Parts: sequence; C-alpha cells; structure tokens
Amino acid sequence: MSASGPDLSRFAVNQITTRDWTFAQAVDGYARAGVRGIGAWVQYVDEIGAAAAGRMAREAGLFVPCLCTTAWVNLADPVSYRAALDENRRRLDMAAEIGAKTLVVVPGGLATGERDLGAARRRVAEALAELLPHARAAGVALGLEPLHPMYAADRSCLSTFAHCLALCETLGEGTGIVADVYHCWWDPDFAAGLERAGPERILTFHLCDWLVPTRDVYQDRGMVGDGVIDIAFYRSVLDRIGYDGPFEIEIFSKLDWWLRDGAETTRIAVERCAPFVAPRRQAKAA
Ligand code: ZN
Repeated sequence: MSASGPDLSRFAVNQITTRDWTFAQAVDGYARAGVRGIGAWVQYVDEIGAAAAGRMAREAGLFVPCLCTTAWVNLADPVSYRAALDENRRRLDMAAEIGAKTLVVVPGGLATGERDLGAARRRVAEALAELLPHARAAGVALGLEPLHPMYAADRSCLSTFAHCLALCETLGEGTGIVADVYHCWWDPDFAAGLERAGPERILTFHLCDWLVPTRDVYQDRGMVGDGVIDIAFYRSVLDRIGYDGPFEIEIFSKLDWWLRDGAETTRIAVERCAPFVAPRRQAKAA
C-alpha cells in the first residue's frame, strides 16, 4: 500500500466472505485489494491440495491466520467418532502445510436424539484432549471459537467465551481462543474474558456486524458498520491488553454480500475495517 493508505498488515479476509471465489481467486482478489491475509476453509483447499494452496498464499505474500474448521466430533457412535478424529488430524496437517497457525474448532452440538448438553460438552473436551498431541506435533493450535448460544444444539456446544477459556486453561499449551464479535458481542463478560485470556491466548479476531433485524441467524451477518456492535470498543480492549494478532472479516450473508462480486465485497470490507485493524503503535502515533 502507499504511504498514505491504510496499514493492512494485520488484516485478513476470511474466504467464506467471498463464498463464490476459489482459493486462487481469493488469493488474487485479496492481494489486489491490499489485504495481507487469507482465512482459509477446508473445502477450498481440498479443491487444489494443501501444497498448492500454501504455495499460492506464500507467493502472494498473504499470511494465513486460520483454517476453518474441524469436522464435528460430538458423535455418540464410536466408529463415526474415530473417523472424525482422524479427519481432524488430516485437517491439522493441512493447516500446517498452508502455514495456518490455528485450526478453528467447531465441534458440533448435541448428538442425534440427545438432551444432555453437559454430556455433549464433556465429550467435546475429551475429543480435544485426544487431538492435542497431534496438534502440538504439527505446530497448529486448536482455536476454540465460542459460537452464539442459538447454535448450541446443532453447530457447537462451546457457547461462551468463559467456557472456552476454561477449557483452554484445562487443556494447556496448543490451545487458544478464536474470538468473533458476531458470537460474543451480546455477552456481558466478553470484554472481561478478553482481558483474562490475554494476548497470547487470542489466536485471531473475527469481525462483522450484527444486523437489526437479523433475518437468518446462520447466514445474515452484516458488514462492519452496518449493525450494532461497538467494534471500536473491542479494539480498545484488545489494545489495552496488548493484542497484536490478526483481524479477519468473516461474513456469512446469503441475502446480501454473497450475492455481490467478490471484488466489491473485498473493497468495501477494506474500507470499513481499516479504522479498526491498524498496528497498535500506529494507532498511538496518529
Ligand atoms: Zn468466526
């Protein structure tokens, strides 16, 4: 970027934001827009293979803050459970090969027919403990992402920041938090959780906005600035605790942004996010 342009050195676009782009198109489109990182998804990497994807990102000078996501591990049937753990070992290796430091953990909610949420959460904790040696050997962190409680039955029973942080503290080295304003902004303990986690445990920070009304809780996230989340406040909390990690725009939007051209979405994402993603020192000097 030019000297007068925004410093985007910490800024990545999570590629689900430009859903119709292939991995190669996303790398090219983000680099052209001055974006410095790409949050990768398994299905796009699988289309070309991890070696090619990693090479493309490196040659374009893009960092890879994370690979999304784990396969669901919250399965009662032991054969499916073992298969899911094996698939997650493959995804950890994929993350290492594309240069992603974090595999985002989305473990599933309740098993079919289940009503015992406590048991579901205990199974997830056990699955993560089983994966941890492979994660440590691969040099890839298990990034626990608290998901909105409305996702607890079917996507992830890891519902609050505090719950995820407690799990990280139990599991230890090789785990951390993927913080996402969409999932956490409502939580009165979110800011305190960020402070308690500290900069080392926050692996990447996902940006978007909460629209009023939200027409579809899964696929109607807003562009930064179009909703009610106080992004500047959370940025100030992150500065106060000394967080220097990545910021990623991550938008699921079947009613708006997924209908637009990827280049337009990327350009507007850069404009909207630039005020919130600068390095800490620059923010102070400005
Ligand atoms: Zn996220």
